[in-house]
Amino acid sequence: MKSIKLKSGYSIPILGLGTWLVTGRECFDAVLTALECGYTHIDTASAYENEDDIGKAIIESGIERSSLFLTTKIWYQKLRFNDVIEQCKQSLDKLRTDYIDLLLIHWPNKFIPLQETFDAFERLVEERKVRSIGVSNFTIPHLQEALKSTVLPIAANQIEFHPFFFQKEVLDFCNKNDIAVIAYSPLAHGKVFQSDILKSIANQKKCEPSQLALAWLMQKNIIVIPKASTEEHIKSNLESLSIVLND
Ligand code: NAP
Repeated sequence: MKSIKLKSGYSIPILGLGTWLVTGRECFDAVLTALECGYTHIDTASAYENEDDIGKAIIESGIERSSLFLTTKIWYQKLRFNDVIEQCKQSLDKLRTDYIDLLLIHWPNKFIPLQETFDAFERLVEERKVRSIGVSNFTIPHLQEALKSTVLPIAANQIEFHPFFFQKEVLDFCNKNDIAVIAYSPLAHGKVFQSDILKSIANQKKCEPSQLALAWLMQKNIIVIPKASTEEHIKSNLESLSIVLND
């Protein structure tokens, strides 16, 4: 699978499985199915309360940890130094791993200085518990402050991005500063199926509107993390990797 080189030196697979709003057996099954189909990148967050299910599915798959890319996020109320260290420890335990590939600040919190959170992130990187760090839901002013608040490279910004929400200014800022953009809700929660324009282009390309939306993002070097819980959806999203669109 194509991957994007992060400023930290590590690479992230361009397509991963989103896991928001799926827990327990449903999450375990979805992640195991995705891993068996060839996904190597899983997106979660401590707030999703499914890291334990994901950890179990990874063990069950038998896939080597080094072949996988795991992203998790620290909730905005847990951004104090000691809270970050504790939250990361819990994520590592639940995911049954000794490192996180990408640790993100889930949402900015103006009441906790970014520098304090990044001090904890730096400690975790030094201890090799985290490989790359990043942010989520950060606007340009948030990003400008983030870039000044740590010596570590801000590897990624995970933001809502899909055909109905084209965040051009943030994308341009991230591209200029070598911050990878990870598109969340890349299918607009399924709304891509309701668009006549997307349906008509997808028809011409002999693909699904969902695959079109994912291909459109990936051709801009945007990483996508569609959430899917059925095998059909999981496979269909993976197949978007082979779609080539003209300008
Ligand atoms: P999404 O991926 O845009 O859409 C998910 C919906 O699309 C689900 O209802 C899923 O149904 C359906 N779907 C998936 N593939 C399909 C296919 N091939 N055909 C038809 N329907 C399909 O929405 P999302 O979950 O909001 O976003 C994706 C991921 O981004 C999340 O899971 C999470 O990991 C991340 N995220 C991050 C943040 C943040 O603040 N950083 C916020 C939101 C989301 P089934 O489940 O039935 O397959």
